[in-house]
Amino acid sequence: MLPYGRQSIDESDIEAVTRVLRSDWLTTGPEVAGFEDDLAAWTGGTPCVAVSNGTAALHTAYAALGVGRGDQVVTSPVTFVATASAAVALGATVTFADVDPQTANLDPEAAASALTGRTKVIAAVDYAGHPAEYDDLTKIAESAGVSLVADAAHSIGSRYRDRPVGSLADVTTFSFFPTKNLTTGEGGAVAVRDAGVLTAARRFRTHGLVREPALLRDPHEGGWHQEVHAFGLNYRLPDVLAALGRSQLRRLAAFKARRAHLVARYDELLAGVAGLGLPARRDHADPMWHLYPVRVRDGRRREVYERLRAAGIGVQVNFIPAYWHPAFADLGYRRGMCPVAEAFYAEELSLPLYPDLTDAEQDWVVETLAGILR
Ligand SMILES: *Cc1c(COP(=O)(O)O)cnc(C)c1O
Repeated sequence: MLPYGRQSIDESDIEAVTRVLRSDWLTTGPEVAGFEDDLAAWTGGTPCVAVSNGTAALHTAYAALGVGRGDQVVTSPVTFVATASAAVALGATVTFADVDPQTANLDPEAAASALTGRTKVIAAVDYAGHPAEYDDLTKIAESAGVSLVADAAHSIGSRYRDRPVGSLADVTTFSFFPTKNLTTGEGGAVAVRDAGVLTAARRFRTHGLVREPALLRDPHEGGWHQEVHAFGLNYRLPDVLAALGRSQLRRLAAFKARRAHLVARYDELLAGVAGLGLPARRDHADPMWHLYPVRVRDGRRREVYERLRAAGIGVQVNFIPAYWHPAFADLGYRRGMCPVAEAFYAEELSLPLYPDLTDAEQDWVVETLAGILR
């Protein structure tokens, strides 16, 4: 089965990992800081904290921004459920605001209408790799006095008005799951603009431990002493995986070029196919495409999904509206809340897209899809 997304691992990646396996540090060693520094070269210098996965990154982002019981987080329903559930885990209430019908990114006006006195964070999602409308979202967040989070699980390497993802929100979260734009197996990171929030994120990743002598409440306890001032968790990324991340970052520009090539080919080869809508791109966005989300018209999405799968083409649907999950339904969230997101979901189908997909494999996907819709 041709997957919809998968990692690209070469000998340089394997060599980077085996080198760390032979070293003294499997975790809490020098590769982690090295990976964070290398990552910051892609976030316009915004400092990064590596964590164990993209969900941990979201949890860390919300916790570092002070999200807690009774707070409200406004986000998009066109996302993986983790964008919302990480806020629920902190006791917050999630409000879903509807999306732009073309990009499926959070509609700034809908987000603005969803704000209340309890709102702490607006969390945008760069769906498929296309950056959200950060200028509008920043204005809305600033005038409301709330923080802006970017769930950039899809979009490391993308640019918005010539600025890199990672520099566009107060906190940006990344995922390095194998299907994403680069991988560490499991892994993630947060990029944080404010120094205080950065410190809070670093602490949350490591149990909330404080070690700086000047900050200890009990500085005379002994040289071994460390204190937890606010609860955190163990969300560390091991050095073995950080080394893979560094190696993958060296290949990220090539990954972006290859994804762009494949997207341009899909755009061209599928342009004339009736019953199909192709992904929209804003002029001011330079996406590193993670997904190639087409729209299958005329109520045929399920049929097309099943026939492509039966042919060995592992298409995917991204995403069911997050509040359709029974855990949200049980909390009283009802279908129909975000009609644009639901209409998008009803037609969406993600075609195979990853750097090692060959042009010939892509031709086969295109011919099979066009044949079904003919
Ligand atoms: C993959 C993904 C996540 C979660 O990342 P993990 O590394 O799988 O925990 C969060 N948000 C979005 C939009 C994602 O696609």
